Amino acid sequence: MPEFRQNMISKEWVIIATERAKRPDQFLPKKEERGLPSHREDCPFCPGNESMTPPAVFSIEKGESWSLRVVPNKFAALQSHLTTERKREGRFLKADGFGIAEVIIETPIHNRTIATMDPEEVRNTAFAYRERYLALSKVKQIDLITIFRNYGERAGTSLEHPHSQIIATPIVPPHVRNPLYQSQLACDTYGNCIYCEMIDEEVRQEVRVIQESEYFIAICPFASRSPFETRIYPKIHRSSFGSVNDEELMDFAKILQDTLKRIYYGLQNPDYNYIIRSAPIEDCDVKYHHWYVVIVPKLTTPAGFEIGTGIYINTTLPEDCAHFLREVEI
Ligand SMILES: [Zn+2]
Ligand SMILES: [Zn+2]
Repeated sequence: MPEFRQNMISKEWVIIATERAKRPDQFLPKKEERGLPSHREDCPFCPGNESMTPPAVFSIEKGESWSLRVVPNKFAALQSHLTTERKREGRFLKADGFGIAEVIIETPIHNRTIATMDPEEVRNTAFAYRERYLALSKVKQIDLITIFRNYGERAGTSLEHPHSQIIATPIVPPHVRNPLYQSQLACDTYGNCIYCEMIDEEVRQEVRVIQESEYFIAICPFASRSPFETRIYPKIHRSSFGSVNDEELMDFAKILQDTLKRIYYGLQNPDYNYIIRSAPIEDCDVKYHHWYVVIVPKLTTPAGFEIGTGIYINTTLPEDCAHFLREVEI
């Protein structure tokens, strides 16, 4: 029997329709190992080609070379020298494309990914995320900072070298604002952070928990929009990614890598996106918002009904996906 499930925070509905189901192991992609070299002469992010990118705004040195670099995005959709002023064009509203876009080059080694990196490289990556998050949050015009990783062509990147991106914008879009309204209303009504309540409930029900560490929990959410959608939440209430302390950050690097290893080995290295959803800068310390990471393996494509209604049809039970990922040996 298909069922509707509601995301208790955003109030969005999904349809879980396992009649058309694939079992988790049927998602295993047909593709071969990526078979990439560890270094490429023509890769702008490989060591020796530093002049192909703008100078680093942050780096972690290792001996004579580097182990991580953050550089301005040369092909950024937004530019930092513009203004944020809104303008009219007849009845239409517009503004200059102000924003700051940076690329985090996570390792000098071309053919790694988070799942196959040394733990130190993942810790460096998490550290760089926080450093740049804090630096960009001091820029007066910035309202929202989004950190994300596109892995593979289905996830929107053709650049092979391991990298993440940060885009800081002067705009908080409705897609981000609406769940904030909902969680604020819930907090006004019940007096608590609804994310904290949801995490407590997931711990109680257990069936969708993939892994728990001292400070974090990884789950396949109750109302997952697509197969193997995974979220990592801090167990201590924090609205902003910028406010995690050193100990939590290292624990975060570990659970992020463990979760991506489960996806990498369990689902045979699928393309994916992950996004760190942190509160807008002005809401960096509020009771009603709770930061998290959402990981979306690209195993299905939203079609007409999804695009038309925003109601996603998920053919896999999140409980089965969590069970499957829990069992993967890492
Ligand atoms: Zn490279
Ligand atoms: Zn909370």
